Amino acid sequence: MIKPFEEAIYVTRPYLPPLEAFCDELKEIWKCRWLTNEGPIVRRFVRQLSHYFETDNICLFNNGTLALQLALQGMDISGEVITTPFTFVATTHALFWNKIRPVFVDIEPQYYTLDPEKVEAALTPWTTAILAVHVYGHPCRVHALADIARRHHLKLIYDAAHAFGVKVGGRSIAHFGDMNMFSFHATKPFHSIEGGMLTFRDSGLKKKLDYLKNFGFENEVEVVMPGTNAKMNEFQALMGSMILGCLDELIARRRRIAEIYRERLSDLPGIRFPPPLPEDVQSTHAYLPVEIDNREFPWSRDELYEQLKTYNIYTRRYFYPLICDYTCYRHLALQDPLTVARRVASCILTLPIYPDLAEADVHRVCDIIHHIRKEHRPSASGALVASPALLSRPGAPVPGAEKDLVTS
Ligand SMILES: *Cc1c(COP(=O)(O)O)cnc(C)c1O
Repeated sequence: MIKPFEEAIYVTRPYLPPLEAFCDELKEIWKCRWLTNEGPIVRRFVRQLSHYFETDNICLFNNGTLALQLALQGMDISGEVITTPFTFVATTHALFWNKIRPVFVDIEPQYYTLDPEKVEAALTPWTTAILAVHVYGHPCRVHALADIARRHHLKLIYDAAHAFGVKVGGRSIAHFGDMNMFSFHATKPFHSIEGGMLTFRDSGLKKKLDYLKNFGFENEVEVVMPGTNAKMNEFQALMGSMILGCLDELIARRRRIAEIYRERLSDLPGIRFPPPLPEDVQSTHAYLPVEIDNREFPWSRDELYEQLKTYNIYTRRYFYPLICDYTCYRHLALQDPLTVARRVASCILTLPIYPDLAEADVHRVCDIIHHIRKEHRPSASGALVASPALLSRPGAPVPGAEKDLVTS
């Protein structure tokens, strides 16, 4: 028996800059008492991000969900939008709030991103856009999707919530769609406590997005459209700006952790890693997804997830359930059987990865997984049999799920 961790290990843990350094910077805010509404720190942050992404076509928001929702509104997207069911629920919510019908299409089996071949089959006269997700920071098949969008006159929108810092062929992922949304939520590899950003191709959209996030104000006496309140504040921008300064180092630490997991687990029968990303992709190791193959692993994904909890390790089953299976979207008709997405959602497990996770702890998580794998009772026939108490009942509520600290 390996001892459980004394302190819980969660799937992620937000990075925080040194407290003294942050407090030093706070003095600036106290001095000028400008807390929100495009203050000096937000403006500086915009300049830093413009430089980082090599574009002026960016707009900051108080979170990624509102950024995406307003992006769709700003682009006048309507009718039907082709999207993926294998994502965080906010992707679909952003469509809902714009009265757009989501059309769920299957993902491809290697990297779990929208399958371009299935996209083409799902087009109807009402389709106006594709909303794809660089899930786990794995880039979508950007060239294939761009080709479909161009041939069918569709807008191509990326939920790049997981993909800050990802590059394809030396170019930032921020340059591949008509519109790209990044989330700066505390659980993402780059964060500003909460926050969001859009990058977009058409510089004409900038003004409209600025209106939409600030009540539609043109000036003190004129409101030109019914906007909402989605502005980033100075504290968020300060956090983001400090973390941007050390992002490369944080990504390097994630890379090392991902390497350890692969070294220690990729030969373990029943655990399958996604294939290494193509040569021209620069990853940030935002997540560490593995598939648990019940035919070779003695426990199901859910059993492993539960057993790890007994060791004080809280993995997540991102992205289970599929969006189309949530109560609020279950009524939507599905054309695509979503065969791959259903299989992946049933066997995927994301393991703990964050810059402060000690290498020794990564090894310990791996030791525990090795240990759990050995802890099965062989049946008389020699087949692997799990202890009945741990067999999962499909659809049963997951004990302890309500206690999870991190929900997105
Ligand atoms: C986190 C996330 C969002 C929402 O971002 P917030 O900043 O938390 O509002 C949207 N889409 C995906 C895929 C996400 O993971």
